[in-house]
Amino acid sequence: GALSVRFERVGFEYTSEETPEPKKIMHELSFHVPAGETLGLVGRTGAGKSTIAHLLSRMYDPGEGRVLLGGVDTREATLASLRAQVGLVTQDVQVFDASLRDNLTFFDDTVHDDRLMAILDELELRPWLATLPDGLSSRISPSTLSAGQGQLLALARVFLKDPGLIILDEPSSKLDLVTEAMVERALDRMLAGRTAIVIAHRLDTILRADRVLVLDGGAVVESGATSDL
Ligand code: ATP
Ligand code: MG
Repeated sequence: GALSVRFERVGFEYTSEETPEPKKIMHELSFHVPAGETLGLVGRTGAGKSTIAHLLSRMYDPGEGRVLLGGVDTREATLASLRAQVGLVTQDVQVFDASLRDNLTFFDDTVHDDRLMAILDELELRPWLATLPDGLSSRISPSTLSAGQGQLLALARVFLKDPGLIILDEPSSKLDLVTEAMVERALDRMLAGRTAIVIAHRLDTILRADRVLVLDGGAVVESGATSDL
């Protein structure tokens, strides 16, 4: 089911070989997303929005404070269980030179085709499927998918995973109007009753959120209910 999210006075700095001088980019960041609600996250470039997604999917651990998912400190969860609970959609969709089925399931052949077809129906992708030569067995590759189809593939993967938390990092940029409308309808269905963090520049995406946080320099500069905007 849906999982709550809590950041407790989180401090964070990226460290790497190239940047030996650590740069603190998050300072005592605290916020809470109740289970089932959608949080909109806005802020200028470099504000720390994607870093929040990285911390929740534990690509990095917080240096200070705690990140809790469903009340559990992410550092105490196994990476496998955490990755199963967090569905992350970014602009970079990984597409394999493989069948549509394998692209949807990440090569997990225990998933039934019925399930995949139901998800393609939900995303209004049946007409597109009908144009492919071999149904779910049709070979696709990064070069044969448009940006919009890539986004829809990413959303289909999230539907299939049905995680306790969905994070969308500016997912619907660069789409044509028809695909964008499909993505919007899919998001309406996907976010209902699920916990989500939506990182967005556009107002219509943010209006779907229950609450909005405005970040700057890794700190909350404003927050409020979407109805107050
Ligand atoms: P945008 O709107 O451009 O996507 P953002 O709000 O998502 O921006 P972040 O990607 O979270 O911002 O970056 C926050 C800060 O951390 C920036 O100053 C950025 O330069 C820095 N940063 C991000 N990723 C790394 C990294 N892998 N190594 C070092 N610094 C990084
Ligand atoms: Mg970002």
